Amino acid sequence: MSKIIVLMGAPGAGKGTQARLIQERLGLPQISTGDMLRALAAEDIHTTQASGKLISDDVVIAMVRQRTASADCRNGYVLDGFPRTTAQAEMLEELAAAQGMPLTAILIDVPTEVLKERFAGRRICPVCGETYNTYFRPPHSDNLCDLHNVQLEQRADDRLDRVQVRLDTYEKQTAPLLDYYKRSGRLKIVDGTQAPEAIYAELERILTEEADCRRTA
Ligand code: AMP
Repeated sequence: MSKIIVLMGAPGAGKGTQARLIQERLGLPQISTGDMLRALAAEDIHTTQASGKLISDDVVIAMVRQRTASADCRNGYVLDGFPRTTAQAEMLEELAAAQGMPLTAILIDVPTEVLKERFAGRRICPVCGETYNTYFRPPHSDNLCDLHNVQLEQRADDRLDRVQVRLDTYEKQTAPLLDYYKRSGRLKIVDGTQAPEAIYAELERILTEEADCRRTA
């Protein structure tokens, strides 16, 4: 059955990793508003992204509306980083109704302290994009890419002051949406401190159970 999967969770919770796995293994396209915005040639948008604040609802909603109208979204899609505000969640309800697809929200739950460590340690190779973490996955030599022998870099919005803005923005504008999905019985929660494959196994189990329930309903 066609479906919309909404991956919820604070920045750094691992939504992107899981969305990519769902895309690869279940064939539902990943729609990452963060990636789409980064790919736009728009200096003002990149400045706002680097600050840790949100891009205006109008811009993001128009982008999602257009992307989800593509043929590859006919059987459903996985949203990563959307909705982030009440206005976006309302738009998504209308879209789901118009497309005739049920929506499942899944929270990848990670405590704030763990998130801060993940951000503080995240380093990226400017040549190949490989991601390291000084705490959890250090390179063989200090701050050098194992493959390219170049200095690793930190994403502008991963710096501690920016991370705090991103976490505050999440608490204020996005976390209230969890209640909204919970009240309508559409929120599932997975422990996001597990290894990526263990998280994925839980996601797949949730999605399979839901599909079985809908079939027998
Ligand atoms: P992400 O890659 O999901 O962590 O997003 C990085 C940045 O892109 C965010 O901090 C925002 O500035 C912007 N962004 C991504 N998705 C949205 C959204 N749904 N609404 C507003 N801004 C967004």
